[in-house]
Amino acid sequence: MEHWICVTCGSQFAQSQEPPTQCPICLDQRQYIGHQGQQWTTLGKMQQDGYHTIIQQEESHLTGIDTTPSFAIGQRALLIQTDQGNVLWDCISFLDDETVQAVQDLGGIAAIAISHPHYYSSMIEWAERFHAPVYLHEADRQWVMRLDKCITFWSGETMSLLDGITLVRLGGHFAGGTVLHWPRGAEGRGALLTGDIIYVVADQAWVSFMYSYPNLIPLPAQEIRRMRETIAPYPFERLYAAWFERVVRADASTVVQQSAERYIKAIEEGLERCS
Ligand SMILES: [Zn+2]
Ligand SMILES: [Zn+2]
Repeated sequence: MEHWICVTCGSQFAQSQEPPTQCPICLDQRQYIGHQGQQWTTLGKMQQDGYHTIIQQEESHLTGIDTTPSFAIGQRALLIQTDQGNVLWDCISFLDDETVQAVQDLGGIAAIAISHPHYYSSMIEWAERFHAPVYLHEADRQWVMRLDKCITFWSGETMSLLDGITLVRLGGHFAGGTVLHWPRGAEGRGALLTGDIIYVVADQAWVSFMYSYPNLIPLPAQEIRRMRETIAPYPFERLYAAWFERVVRADASTVVQQSAERYIKAIEEGLERCS
């Protein structure tokens, strides 16, 4: 029996002898089946294939954890270190003994929280190795491919985690799309960790929001307005999306508000017509 991992989205599945016939996450319009058809791997095979982990500090008390060569969607996880224990924000598929040791050296993991189903990855492996609960929004329960008792489905609009850290359901890309507000981040000016619920675009002075990133399907203006209003009360200087290079370093709260405004104008009127 194996816990098979989808090569395109990185989700690890419940145990089975043979690989599953399909991946519901990749059949959804927000993902895709790779050009060579549905493919599977396992953690053991990934180790044989030479994958390993990159650990890189983002700022004081915040460390990025990524896989090289890049795997599936290629996101990096973030480890927030606090006096009350560490929070792993988002997750990655690859995990080996060396990675476990490196994360233990940073203080281990007290809780895991994940923005949306594309980063559920091997969350249960991580939870088991670090004896940490996993917090997922219940609106995305149908996308969990490996259910386990270590998962806590939270409901409503916000959840306090520890040390002032709050999970905020922002929706958009997924019904349960979650961002993490870390008030002590950015030297006490606040940081927002967003996965791709809020996406830092090529011009890092802007962010964007999509229903599907690979298939370029936008969100309705009404939903962007709701997201903009939901996040407005939270102060944050810096914003970390799901890749090392996707960070808004300064004045990120204003960047989100202005980007939402630009997006709404673009889809309602066209930017050229209203400039
Ligand atoms: Zn998949
Ligand atoms: Zn996504």
